[in-house]
Amino acid sequence: MKMKIGVSTLLYEDKDIVTSATKIAKSGVKRIELFCELAGFYPGEVTDETFDALASLAKDYGLTYSIHPPCTDLNPASSDPSERARVIEAYLGTVELATRLGIRDMVVHSGFKSDPDVPNADAFDFAGQTLQTVGKTTEQAGIVMLLENTCWGATDFLDTPQDLVALADLCPPTTKLLLDVGHAVIWGMNPTECARIWLPRLAQIHAHDNHGEHDEHLELGKGIIDWRELLCFLKAEHWDGIFMMEVVGQEDPEAALARSLDLVKTCLGNL
Ligand SMILES: [Zn+2]
Repeated sequence: MKMKIGVSTLLYEDKDIVTSATKIAKSGVKRIELFCELAGFYPGEVTDETFDALASLAKDYGLTYSIHPPCTDLNPASSDPSERARVIEAYLGTVELATRLGIRDMVVHSGFKSDPDVPNADAFDFAGQTLQTVGKTTEQAGIVMLLENTCWGATDFLDTPQDLVALADLCPPTTKLLLDVGHAVIWGMNPTECARIWLPRLAQIHAHDNHGEHDEHLELGKGIIDWRELLCFLKAEHWDGIFMMEVVGQEDPEAALARSLDLVKTCLGNL
């Protein structure tokens, strides 16, 4: 068993979901993350035509999809109950999409403090409540939640990688962890150290690069991240999860993906 490579539809973020997934499938990648913010894929607004197109694409190319709910203006740890209700609605809408497409893995975010003055413990409780509510439905639907590290800066409420494990412990027991490498460095953590701590429950990695400050979603190698260290560790541990490229393609998505895949291959091959 070894890790499997996947690619998020974020690669073609300015295209509609079917176009983006089709381009990725044609490149030979078998695991595709469907991001709900691409045109035509917002929960509650997806047409039968889009469902059919995605289902036949999966059949024709032997694809396995995972799903990423919308995240803009959606904060699971918000102090405002009405804002958390909107998150729950969007997440449950995503569960419906997943169910209809036979998807088994759904990303969820931990969120951030509504205000830097909010006590960490309060934000933790709010996030826990949101994820417990969503977790009941995902569990019944046979869908696994992948809890992703997201927070950084003044609105962080998770101080250590262990805190994400504690949050996952509030969710259904099937819940796994997702290491977003780009978010980890902005958080001020060493991604390899996060992988080490989360390894028993680490199901997926979001791979994209940045310069340590902003969530740039650059191709691998264009920022400050030490991919060699992380990949070396994963290989040594025989990690068999999904290494999901969450690169925004910008002007030349094919080239950005090809260079990112090359970097992974070089790192793994030279070990
Ligand atoms: Zn991510």
